[in-house]
This record gives sequence, structure tokens and C-alpha cells, in this order.
Amino acid sequence: MPVEVSVGQIAEMRKAHPCGGLEWSVVRVGADIGLKCIKCGRRVMLPREEFERRLKCLKTARPGTSPR
Ligand SMILES: [Zn+2]
Repeated sequence: MPVEVSVGQIAEMRKAHPCGGLEWSVVRVGADIGLKCIKCGRRVMLPREEFERRLKCLKTARPGTSPR
């Protein structure tokens, strides 16, 4: 079953980014998922399949807080 993901959610990944960040902000959803590292601001694009494999959990950003 595909993971339901939408722009603005926070994705926590199984493996930390080299900067130490574990949380990514979802910036684009399509065939590829666009993610921005909350800690260092780096953007990456992952094929949906790979995104789902690396995903640990998905959090909905609290209303009123915009991910950096
Ligand atoms: Zn990072």
C-alpha cells in the first residue's frame, strides 16, 4: 500500500543525513518525492519507492509552524 504523503509533512528517515539530521520536510510530491533536510537545508529528490524504503515515520507539521 503506498504511503500517503503530502507537502508540508515531516518525514523521519531510518538513516541520518551526513549532517546528523533525521527529519526532512516534504517539499514536493509526485513520482519523485522532494525532501529538504530540516537541519542543513539541503534538498534531495527520491523516487517514491526509495523514499518509502528509507522512511521511518511521517509526521504532520503542527499548524502554524512552517518547516524551515
Ligand atoms: Zn542535512
